[in-house]
Amino acid sequence: MFRIPSYIHIYGKGVITNPDLEKLSLYLKTLLPESTIDVRTDFISFFLGQLDSSKTDDTVDLLAEKLAGIRVLDYSKQKLNPDPLYAEIDYERRKILIPDIKSIGVFYDGFELQNIFYSLIKRTKGMPAPYSPLLEGGERGGYKDEHSFAHLHIVFTNQFIATWEDDDSRYHSRSSVYGFPSIISTAGIVEAPAKPREFYLMKQQYGIIGRDDLALTEFKNKFEGRFIDYDDPRMTEVCKGYTAQALLFHITGEPFCEDKGCKLFNAHWQAELIYSQLESPYEFCDKHTDMLKRLTY
Ligand SMILES: [Zn+2]
Repeated sequence: MFRIPSYIHIYGKGVITNPDLEKLSLYLKTLLPESTIDVRTDFISFFLGQLDSSKTDDTVDLLAEKLAGIRVLDYSKQKLNPDPLYAEIDYERRKILIPDIKSIGVFYDGFELQNIFYSLIKRTKGMPAPYSPLLEGGERGGYKDEHSFAHLHIVFTNQFIATWEDDDSRYHSRSSVYGFPSIISTAGIVEAPAKPREFYLMKQQYGIIGRDDLALTEFKNKFEGRFIDYDDPRMTEVCKGYTAQALLFHITGEPFCEDKGCKLFNAHWQAELIYSQLESPYEFCDKHTDMLKRLTY
């Protein structure tokens, strides 16, 4: 049974400038022409804006504490940050109120972040909407609930997310965590899929960490084009694949494909990411091309 979303909401406007979220919205429209797609502000601002203004301050405090509590402090420990420091909570509070302030490279547990986001979707009434026969959720006073499968929420963030892996008992940085909502990290796209092995060897050799920007630029030039960088002009194209994975997860529960040339390939290396999203002669493998066609006819 396919769960085809009637509505797709993309979050990040005002904070995320690369990828181009409007272009991603148009891309998803080509995959699901029947769905209504909108691009919204950053996720937390959007849902805070839905709340009764008398509740906003308390919600900001609560959210700040929750977010500080799901920081990954030590990659080798599953325990997060249950007793956050005042400064950590204060940072989160400022970030909630001024979402485009510079991030300081904090890592959050991706699934816990998803839980926090889900609780926000659940407690707000959603946007006014015309009745849709496809909508599974109940109508309440002219508003539609947005926590039903009729809605796909895709959250773009420039923060880092990580998930715990039992296999090697440590946290791993991630480009995306799919679920309700799906979260895509632009910082994760740069840092999570591994760069060429020589990159790490040279980085070690040159002791590049802590060196000046010029040295870093020179160093990066040696590897130009071989990985997706911050402000990379290819970021929008690469993110099409991540949004397609979020869509497939919503529809079938399986976001990934084994085919290295399919946009649904789960890339662990930057070279794989670049091949599957940019260089492959086809967009989707035959199986997924057929599946996507069947959704629209
Ligand atoms: Zn495929």
